[in-house]
Amino acid sequence: MVQSSVLGFPRMGAKRELKKATEAYWSDKLSRDDLLKEGKRLRLEHWKIQKDAGVDVIPSNDFSFYDHLLDHIELFNVIPKRYSELPVDPIDIYFAMGRSRQRDGVDVPALEMVKWFDSNYHYVKPTFQDDQTFKLADNPKPVVEFLEAKEAGIITRPVLIGPVSFLALGKADRDQSVDPISLLSKLLPVYIELLEKLKAAGAETVQIDEPVLVYDLAPKIKAAFKPAYEKLVGDKLPQLMVATYFGDIVHNLDVFPALQNVYGIHIDLVRNPEQLNLVIGRLGSSQVLSAGVVDGRNIWKTNFQQAIEKVEAAIQKLGKDRVIVATSSSLLHTPHSLESEKKLPVEVKDWFSFAVQKATEVVIIAKAVTDGPNSVQEALEANAKSVQARASSKRTNNKAVKDRQASVKPEDHDRKSQFHVRYAQQKEKLNLPKFPTTTIGSFPQTGEIRKQRGLFTKGDITAQQYEDFINGQIEDVINKQVNLDLDVLVHGEPERNDMVQYFGEQLDGYVFTTNGWVQSYGSRCVRPPIIVGDISRPAPMTVKESKYALDYANGEKVDQNTEKKRNGKFRPVKGMLTGPITCLRWSFPRDDVHQSVQAQQLALALRDEVLDLETNGIWVIQVDEPALREGLPLRKGEEREKYLQWAVDAFKLATAGVQDGTQIHSHFCYSEFQDFFHAIAALDADVLSIENSKSDAKLLSVFKDQKYPRHIGPGVYDIHAPRVPPEAEIRERITEMLENLTSEQLWINPDCGLKTRGWPETIASLTNMVNAAKYFRLQK
Ligand code: GLN
Ligand code: ZN
Repeated sequence: MVQSSVLGFPRMGAKRELKKATEAYWSDKLSRDDLLKEGKRLRLEHWKIQKDAGVDVIPSNDFSFYDHLLDHIELFNVIPKRYSELPVDPIDIYFAMGRSRQRDGVDVPALEMVKWFDSNYHYVKPTFQDDQTFKLADNPKPVVEFLEAKEAGIITRPVLIGPVSFLALGKADRDQSVDPISLLSKLLPVYIELLEKLKAAGAETVQIDEPVLVYDLAPKIKAAFKPAYEKLVGDKLPQLMVATYFGDIVHNLDVFPALQNVYGIHIDLVRNPEQLNLVIGRLGSSQVLSAGVVDGRNIWKTNFQQAIEKVEAAIQKLGKDRVIVATSSSLLHTPHSLESEKKLPVEVKDWFSFAVQKATEVVIIAKAVTDGPNSVQEALEANAKSVQARASSKRTNNKAVKDRQASVKPEDHDRKSQFHVRYAQQKEKLNLPKFPTTTIGSFPQTGEIRKQRGLFTKGDITAQQYEDFINGQIEDVINKQVNLDLDVLVHGEPERNDMVQYFGEQLDGYVFTTNGWVQSYGSRCVRPPIIVGDISRPAPMTVKESKYALDYANGEKVDQNTEKKRNGKFRPVKGMLTGPITCLRWSFPRDDVHQSVQAQQLALALRDEVLDLETNGIWVIQVDEPALREGLPLRKGEEREKYLQWAVDAFKLATAGVQDGTQIHSHFCYSEFQDFFHAIAALDADVLSIENSKSDAKLLSVFKDQKYPRHIGPGVYDIHAPRVPPEAEIRERITEMLENLTSEQLWINPDCGLKTRGWPETIASLTNMVNAAKYFRLQK
């Protein structure tokens, strides 16, 4: 019999209950015990959904209160002293590592958080010490949760991150120099202890994720698999399903001898179906293949016929008992259930499948290959019909868009002049001081803003009332920014629910959901819009708000205090757009046309928006591309270069139409550019603002080494946490930056947008930031 399996389930709950509970706990509105209870309730509910769907292999320990890597940091006691020594409850130590802690005299920043492979999920980076030791936590979470499910009558397959990936995805702590992989032999005994406990609790099989196998691996990382998986196999230990996802592992097949004693290997056959035969060819004579044929990263209904063909191909070589039908990755990256979507066009809704539906899909596919297609005939027929309907729908094709794409010329991608010519004009037009200060775009999205948006969405207030409210918010942030004495102002993005969704809602070719939330980091969820067809812009999307801000900032209506502060000086307002690649990456993209085609359609729509902003006096325009890097094919080489080519082209097509005197900014939420610096340089943006405060300032050396000529604002403080950075700390940061950037090049700004912050810490932090900039202006 062919089993069905899910690699991981979304944690938040149908109504984002986990988000609500953790945030209530953080603001002292929910007790620790009630938070734990809510977590338990959600786990049980999610196991039950999968059980009721008929899934054979159900995961446990896929739940997390913040992030599963952070769970392992706690599990193996990789907790840096600055946290472990805090005189607070263990759960607050856990949250302090994830999101910092600044209260009752305690002040610690969070551990670094980075993107999980090429997804929009973020994990907390394990941070190791030179004298790192490991110790298994009392009552280890994987065991507790396994027993919890068992008690409810559900035998699960616990999920762990594998030892090689755990180390390889981590780093040495700031002032430490340890090479994480060198810690393997110290770490393994703790894994063995944990696995023994799981076995003793009744776990027959454990899913052990080694997703780093999809990367190009340094020889020493590759070599680590052998000692690791020799030790993790034995009578007292559960059998291991080694899981990989988000790429192929063909380039790492030489690791297979090291894995010869594990029970099975999971591969992603949605992304890389072509790896099937090569992997099968390297399996040992009794090893099991877990075939990831149901997409864990997208929302399209699985094409059953194609999936069944893949699974049948595997069965032919391995037999039914050695093949498992699985999701390609954890379903963490998909929304909870389609059931709660009441507003989607019926035609379109039938094309989708969210986590709950995908659990059923693996079951149907497994049944089709076990008992023959007749056993699930109705489901197969309905599926075929839906797939056919989508392919031939009018929604997917727009001739005008295709014609415009066909007429794009190479020169449409280039600015009129070189940077030095543009800069001279911009300098004159914008009249900015040295070390210009700005923010990344959004200001706090207060409860009041969300409330008014909710009222408007529900039809409880009129469009005019809502517009008046938004204008009031814009006035307020303009006044605050002038009073803070920031140089380039923003309108604050109060009208935006989300930086991608907001655009998706205004573009043709998109649909959006009511409850399609996906976890991004910690309690933060996003609701990616869905690209279903060719994209175009029916009308301007952001001009009204930006223009309102500009007129207000430089007009008569400002409050008196602001008037005084402004002192007759023109303050430019920066227009704020989300770039084509980020719109694409943070949406659920189509899977029926290449992503480069979708990116170019988005670029053309944005190009029109950029020009409309310019016409309306917005002379600084920021086109955010934080998702550019996560779209990078995970391995170096031809595929990566191809991606960079079309991604850079899309950005340039969107921005290059402006006059020389208009300043194009772009923003990235990271500063690791070493691998693709040539592409960042090729964007030809006048100013880049990047995340840097939690990263090593040395990362900026690439700008110096490559003689990067344009301007850069590396974030001087971390906005992901409520902590207020003292001015001295910011000055220190700037001093470090000046080792690699010239004072002419350097802008001063926070790491990212401030939408998740509260006002008090925002004002306090920006005050310190502006003062720090002024301090440097006074230096010779
Ligand atoms: N302009 C956006 C903001 O400020 C940028 C956010 C991002 O890069 N993630 O919120
Ligand atoms: Zn950012």
